[in-house]
Amino acid sequence: MEVGAPPPPSNEDNREFGCDHYKRRCKIRAPCCNQVFSCRLCHNEATSSLSDPKDRHEIVRHDIKQVICLLCNTEQEVAQVCSNCGEKMGEYFCGICKFYDDDISKGQFHCDDCGICRVGGRDNYFHCKKCGACYMVGLRDNHSCLENSMRNYCPVCYEYLFDSVEVSRVMKCGHTMHDTCFLKMIQQNQYRCPICSKTLFDMSNQWTRLEAEVFVLSPLFVGSFPMVLYYEQLVYFVLIQLVS
Ligand SMILES: [Zn+2]
Ligand SMILES: [Zn+2]
Ligand SMILES: [Zn+2]
Ligand SMILES: [Zn+2]
Ligand SMILES: [Zn+2]
Ligand SMILES: [Zn+2]
Ligand SMILES: [Zn+2]
Ligand SMILES: [Zn+2]
Repeated sequence: MEVGAPPPPSNEDNREFGCDHYKRRCKIRAPCCNQVFSCRLCHNEATSSLSDPKDRHEIVRHDIKQVICLLCNTEQEVAQVCSNCGEKMGEYFCGICKFYDDDISKGQFHCDDCGICRVGGRDNYFHCKKCGACYMVGLRDNHSCLENSMRNYCPVCYEYLFDSVEVSRVMKCGHTMHDTCFLKMIQQNQYRCPICSKTLFDMSNQWTRLEAEVFVLSPLFVGSFPMVLYYEQLVYFVLIQLVS
């Protein structure tokens, strides 16, 4: 290298590490295709858009064995603290999901019954064994329990709900779907569950029925969006949609 040449700009890059999905100080080596990605979702985005359908696949998070510390570039076995430089690779770490996230304001927690990490604060959720997922505590003894309700596909967009990163909700009938898909349905003046055709609301009392409908299910990782604010806006939005 020439004497006096400016250092490569990337070295003075002091941004926080990570990707659009998570802030963290490591990358993962995908056990399925042996490639390095910032996170599980980055892997799935990349592999789901491969031209040959045979190459498309999703990562099994629990199978991840190796990570690469972004501070010292050392590849190593999954752990919270880097074996080389001694720095934490994520403020939140789950050794079961091999999951790292520096933004602990999301309230990540691992649910043993779900077998995966969720967000929203452990104290705000309980695991409903019958429905098969974590529901907000307000729904304890207060929802129609349906066997494996969350181990199902959203009736609107057909994404698998159980480990979707989108917020889901349980309807009065016990069926579940994404919040965004629910809102789209309401916007199109469809007030019946697309699975069982039961009405979503008791139309006789618009306001109280909406209060009963605002409980949402524990999503997985929803970026760094302030969840409480989101729910408030959502309720407001639903109110406006229905009252107007
Ligand atoms: Zn892979
Ligand atoms: Zn990512
Ligand atoms: Zn390191
Ligand atoms: Zn976990
Ligand atoms: Zn759970
Ligand atoms: Zn239930
Ligand atoms: Zn959906
Ligand atoms: Zn239904």
